[in-house]
Amino acid sequence: MNIVVMKFGGTSVADYDCMQQVLAKVIRHRNLGRKVIVVLSAMAGETNKLISFAYQWSDCPDPAEMDSLMSTGEQVSTALFTMILKDQGVASRSVLGWQMPMRTNDKYCRARIQSIDCQTLRTMLEQYDVLVAAGFQGLSPDERITTLGRGGSDTSAVALAAAIGADVCEIYTDVEGVYTTDPNVYAKARKIETITYDEMLEMASMGAKVLQIRSVEFAKKYNVKVHVRSTFSDKPGTIVTQEDNEMEDALVSGIAYDKDQARITLAHVTDKPGVSAAIFSPLAEEGILVDMIVQNPSKNGQTDMTFTVPRGDLQKTLHIMEEVREEIGAEEIYHDTQVCKVSVIGVGMRNHSGVAAKAFQALREENINILMIATSEIKITCLIEEKYTELAVRTLHDAFELDKNNQPACT
Ligand code: ADP
Ligand code: ASP
Ligand code: MG
Repeated sequence: MNIVVMKFGGTSVADYDCMQQVLAKVIRHRNLGRKVIVVLSAMAGETNKLISFAYQWSDCPDPAEMDSLMSTGEQVSTALFTMILKDQGVASRSVLGWQMPMRTNDKYCRARIQSIDCQTLRTMLEQYDVLVAAGFQGLSPDERITTLGRGGSDTSAVALAAAIGADVCEIYTDVEGVYTTDPNVYAKARKIETITYDEMLEMASMGAKVLQIRSVEFAKKYNVKVHVRSTFSDKPGTIVTQEDNEMEDALVSGIAYDKDQARITLAHVTDKPGVSAAIFSPLAEEGILVDMIVQNPSKNGQTDMTFTVPRGDLQKTLHIMEEVREEIGAEEIYHDTQVCKVSVIGVGMRNHSGVAAKAFQALREENINILMIATSEIKITCLIEEKYTELAVRTLHDAFELDKNNQPACT
C-alpha cells in the first residue's frame, strides 16, 4: 500500500474556503492511487477559545477535563472535512484518537505517544481511500482522552507516518516551508530547501513553532521524511532529513526566537553542596522545563542563581521557590517576564570559531543588552529584553547574511 500522511494546521482548515484548498490537495494524492491519512488541527483560534472557556469556568482547570475539552476542536474539523470529502464521492471517514487508538501516557495536556494500533488503521485503509485523523489527541492507559501539548498535531502526523510506514509526512501550513527565521518577522527570511533533523530540533526547541519539537524527535528516531510546505501554493517546501556531507557546510542555518520565557533570580543563596538540587529537583518533579541557568561566582559564601522557565509555569515556579527558600537561604526572589530568547543555530558551528563573537558584536552595534547566554555545539542563545526581539532577529539574520545562499566565513 502506497500511503501518504498529510497534516494541515489550524489556518489551513480555518473555514470552508480554506478546506477547499485542502480538499484539492488530498484528492490529487488519491487520484494518483495513494491511500491518504489526513491529520487535522482544530480550526484556527478554536483551541485558544476552548482554553479561555476553561479559565472562565475554573481558576485551575482539571487537566484530564481540560484534555477532554481541548480535543473537541479537532473533532469538529475532522468531521466537517470528512463531510466535504464524502460530498465529492471520496471513500473516507474521520478517526479520533481513541478510535485508532493512539495510546499515550497519562500526563494530561502534554501526553507522550506510546503506541499506535496500525492494524486497525490498515483495515480501515482497505475500506477507505482517505482517513481523516484528529491530531493532538490520544488515549491514556485508563481510557481517558489526552492531548499532546500545543502544536501537537505535527507529532500525531509524524508518529502516524512512522507507525504505518508512510513514504512521506507532509506538513501543510501557512508559510512555504522552514525559513532562516520566522518569515512573518523578517521579510528577508529565506526558505531552506533541506534541513537536518538536528538543526530542525534546535530551531523548534528554540521557538520556531513551524514544527512541534516532539514531531522532529519522532522523525529523527524513525527516520521519517518530513516535507513542510504551504496549503496555499504548490511550491516545494522544506525537506527535513538526515545530515549529509553537503549540509554540514551550512555555518548558520537560522535564527529562532521564543517570547514564552520568564526569568527568575534567587539572590544571596547559600553556596553549599546540594543547593542546585534543592532548587531544580522540585521543579523537575512538577514537569517544569528549566532552560538557561546561570550561577554567579560565590562571594562571602553566597551566590545568585538565575534561570528561565516557560511563562505559563512562572506562578508554579515562584510558589515552589517560596517553599524551598529557607532551605537554600535565598534572601530575595525576583522575576521578569519581559524577556525573549534569541538563538543562532547551525551544524557548521561545530567546526568554526567566531560565530558567538560575531553574534555578540552584531547585538552590541544595535545597543541590545544580553541578559543571559547559553551555548551548545550547534547553537548560541541570548536572553534579551522582549522589546528588542524583532530588531535582534533582523540584526542577527543580516550579520550572518542568511538571505544569501552562501554565507561568509567567521574566521
Ligand atoms: P499551523 O497552524 O499550520 O500548525 P503554526 O502557526 O503552528 O502553523 O506554525 C507556522 C508558523 O510558524 C508560521 O506562520 C510562522 O510565523 C512561524 N515560524 C516561526 N519560525 C519559523 C521558521 N523558521 N520558518 C517558518 N515559519 C516559522
Ligand atoms: N489545536 C492544537 C493547538 O492549537 C494542536 C495543533 O494545532 O497542532 O495547539
Ligand atoms: Mg503548528
